[in-house]
Amino acid sequence: MNTTKSHATPEKIDSKKHETSNTDEYISVISPLSGKVFGEIKVTSEKALEETIAGSAEAQKEWAKIPLNRRAGFMMQFRELLHKNSDDLVEMIHHENGKTRDEARAGLLKGIESVEFAAALPQMISGSVQEVSRGVECKTLRSPLGVVAGITPFNFPAMIPLWMFPLALTLGNGFILKPSEKTPFTAVELSKLLEKTGFPPGLFSVIQGDKHVAGLLCDHPNISALAFVGSSPVAKTIYARASQQGKRVRCMGGAKNHLTIVPDADPEIAAANIVASVTGCAGQRCMAGSVLLAVGNVNHIIAKIYQMMSKIIPGRDIGPVISAEARERIFGFLERAHREGAELTLDGRKSPIEGNKEGFYVGPSIIDHAYPEHEAVTEEIFGPVLTIIRVHSLEEAIEIENRSIYGNAATIYTQTGGVAEYFIERVNAGMVGVNVGVPVPRDPFSFGGRGESRFGDGDITGESAVEFWSGIKKVTTKWEAGRYIDWMS
Ligand code: NAD
Repeated sequence: MNTTKSHATPEKIDSKKHETSNTDEYISVISPLSGKVFGEIKVTSEKALEETIAGSAEAQKEWAKIPLNRRAGFMMQFRELLHKNSDDLVEMIHHENGKTRDEARAGLLKGIESVEFAAALPQMISGSVQEVSRGVECKTLRSPLGVVAGITPFNFPAMIPLWMFPLALTLGNGFILKPSEKTPFTAVELSKLLEKTGFPPGLFSVIQGDKHVAGLLCDHPNISALAFVGSSPVAKTIYARASQQGKRVRCMGGAKNHLTIVPDADPEIAAANIVASVTGCAGQRCMAGSVLLAVGNVNHIIAKIYQMMSKIIPGRDIGPVISAEARERIFGFLERAHREGAELTLDGRKSPIEGNKEGFYVGPSIIDHAYPEHEAVTEEIFGPVLTIIRVHSLEEAIEIENRSIYGNAATIYTQTGGVAEYFIERVNAGMVGVNVGVPVPRDPFSFGGRGESRFGDGDITGESAVEFWSGIKKVTTKWEAGRYIDWMS
């Protein structure tokens, strides 16, 4: 790896926090840029996890007594440190995840928005109070839940942890983060920066490991709430397992996002936007455009999309996918597409590569004339692949979209407001875009899908997440001022 610019090298990251670990298990982390081992992490043992949770619970007792505005003050400092150290963080994300430096920076900046949201909490949240009968008041107080946890995926090593822990901590909780074992180092760097703010030791910890460690968090009685972001099958399992333990649980899953294009769409804007949505982060985004529903004759726009996608060079314009297995899985979809009656008009297996030939690169692909039941339409591919279905009407497009088991994002490209409104009203997705291929809501608007893209109620960021990471105490008071009048006068 090129370390010339980076101080955040894996040699400096050895999970020293867990030296009490009673296991010697390590997981090798492979950089998708080179296919070579980039570093290794020591898996957190059950004993170390017990100590970590106990330490966080102890620290949380004092933390909860600190007023909200002082807790938020740490997040202001954290924000500054994230900006100051952004080059190192970008370098780390680039190497462990493979995404381009620009993409790494964009994800980090989006994560910093969530830190800003947490820092602004004192200005945004307040309780409510009302005199419900003469001399009797009801009021609400927001209180922390205790020690809470987050389990995160590989595709946004900074942004998704930053969606979770700054807000949960600011609301007075302790926090245990388990990042993906494929991209574990960025989380460690984030924790070091938080520590530099003078943050209470032990309140926030990063633990390492795979599904076994994730399972321990689901079952642990002293974790009161758990947020998960990852694939749908795992989201479903974790939701069932952790809620059975009586925890508050919110799990975000995978996606299959449809982009609908109608004949009055602006050809230049739509084509560029669709290509960016499909190929950005090598298609490894839960918000990536994946199925294009082409209404009527939009051949001129599809031709532009083809032109632009065929010019994208892996290693120069897009990064690799996360692993050799992920690449093989994508190749499988391409292989079967033709056999199953669709047309592979752009084959990413044949793209020239400008990166390291050992990296896990896949070029952009287009599967055209697919039908709604085709696996490239129904399954999440998680690679730079656009599958096109030709339809006759907007109703048909909406009907196909709404058949998907997922419901993360849906976009329409049109220049007519009424058409957009018609679509927005009928489409079944948690996040809807109009001429925006990656319709990620910005804080304080919250992020979250529907169907198999989310298990549990509410969203993962914004105001909805404030509700998730805190509890409301309802207080009823009655004071009889007259009784104390002698003593006061
Ligand atoms: P993943 O489900 O394989 O892993 C996510 C996390 O769960 C990791 O920390 C992993 O260690 C852990 N894990 C894996 N298997 C487990 C099991 N059986 N039991 C308990 N824990 C387990 O997901 P990934 O491959 O890292 O990430 C890609 C997926 O995440 C895609 O499906 C993508 O759509 C989804 N995603 C969703 C959102 C969203 O907000 N909806 C955002 C980003 C990514």
